[in-house]
Amino acid sequence: MEPILNFINGEFHPSASGMTLETVNPASGQVITTLPRSSAEDVAMATKAALEAGPAWSATTMEERMAWLHRIADALEEEAETIAQLESMDTGKPISLARRVDAARSVSNFRFFANFGRDHTEPIFSDHGAVNHVHRSPVGCVGLITPWNLPLYLLTWKVAPALLMGNTIVAKPSELTPMTANHLAKVLTKVHFPKGVFNLVHGLGPEVGQAIVEHPDIRGISFTGGTATGKIVAATAAPMFKKLSLELGGKNATVVLDDAPLEEMMDGIVRASFTNSGQVCLCGSRVLVDAAIYDRFKTMFVDAVSNIVVGDPASESTVMGSVISKDHQTKVESYIELGQQEGGVVLTGGSATDAPVKGVTAQGAFLRPTVIEGLSHTSRTATEEIFGPVVTLHPFTSEQEAIDMANATEYGLAGSVWTADTARGYAFAQHLDTGIVWVNTWLNRDLRTPFGGVKQSGVGREGGAWSLNFFSELTNICVQQP
Ligand code: NAD
Repeated sequence: MEPILNFINGEFHPSASGMTLETVNPASGQVITTLPRSSAEDVAMATKAALEAGPAWSATTMEERMAWLHRIADALEEEAETIAQLESMDTGKPISLARRVDAARSVSNFRFFANFGRDHTEPIFSDHGAVNHVHRSPVGCVGLITPWNLPLYLLTWKVAPALLMGNTIVAKPSELTPMTANHLAKVLTKVHFPKGVFNLVHGLGPEVGQAIVEHPDIRGISFTGGTATGKIVAATAAPMFKKLSLELGGKNATVVLDDAPLEEMMDGIVRASFTNSGQVCLCGSRVLVDAAIYDRFKTMFVDAVSNIVVGDPASESTVMGSVISKDHQTKVESYIELGQQEGGVVLTGGSATDAPVKGVTAQGAFLRPTVIEGLSHTSRTATEEIFGPVVTLHPFTSEQEAIDMANATEYGLAGSVWTADTARGYAFAQHLDTGIVWVNTWLNRDLRTPFGGVKQSGVGREGGAWSLNFFSELTNICVQQP
């Protein structure tokens, strides 16, 4: 495959130093292609292009920008199959998932914000003989930094509202998954999108990401990634008074109440646990089950999990592909080992040596979906983010105990509650210290709703009006009436 290049001022360039990195297909261990190992110099070039493009782009009307978002959505839709193939190859996720989630959502992010912009109006307040007009201007040049688990999905979730509000962009995708961001740049070229408005700089986090966060002319940072990296980003950006949105890690609880109809809900609970090999920040990795139904739940859950088809991501029948890298596989395996050291019992799955996946090469980063029971809910395995296909099971004897257990982590991103009684589920959900709770569903996303975490899962909200607020400066113009 041709090498990936930076996209600066509408043109593709190697890094200023000429240095490169390799992107690897984690399911085969084979190098796909190279990408630039960029530096602060490349970030400076991209920022200069973004600043120069800023005045013309911000002078366009909201309607013109909405039309651009629709045009980009159309072009991405035409390329949906290519995007799904590239995403599957770069991440090791099954092609069916890449089609259904990654490619589809990348289109709908642009479509959604284009339509949302059309429906959005600003309030007017009248008092004391004066009329107050809420006025929005773009933040300016914004930095968008994204992780590897949902590469184009998460990048477009930021790009679309940033463009809608008249900002220009310097973006950095994860160095592990640069393929679809590169494809977005190609699509923008194809539709003759104005040069310099969207710039893409590839490379390592501490080199390129850090340079974006440090650049004084980048006035806002929207970051999605791990909590440890988020702390570094916040420490750098806060003294510069940049606008900052941090979407960070999670260790989410799935709570199964005693009245849950298990036959009906098991598919949803399994999906919440293992979608994308458990590498969705919203996956439920701690399953808390009422003791009254624990044994029945355990038998059904373990049976369903051990039947998940793990294998070649390119195969249409694969439900779970590889994890993102051999390094990540080793990290996840170390948690399975830790879980056993902490007194847990592996009910299904285990490390790659315990439970090899047939039909894949040894170079592939494969794991089996793993379920562990017998751990304290405060153990490291049950409270630290593993971000892989590992779930711990914990019985509880009262709703209060379930609430206490669910809240006993430093994270607060998401959770789900499963019950026959939606009113009971809704009441329970209000006690969870998390940004999102789903009742009898999971990853059911209405893009108008606020998205983000509490505690160490992040600061700020994105989605709908919250994205528009983040990507604009709100001011008030007060006009005294004659
Ligand atoms: P990561 O924090 O390692 O990297 C995220 C991005 O930050 C990458 O592009 C990386 O290159 C960059 N980066 C690294 N160091 C940097 C620095 N010093 N300055 C600026 N940028 C830097 O995360 P990851 O391993 O790519 O992704 C997994 C994590 O992301 C998990 O913790 C997961 O929960 C989280 N995540 C959160 C959400 C959410 O919406 N809350 C969504 C997806 C993933």
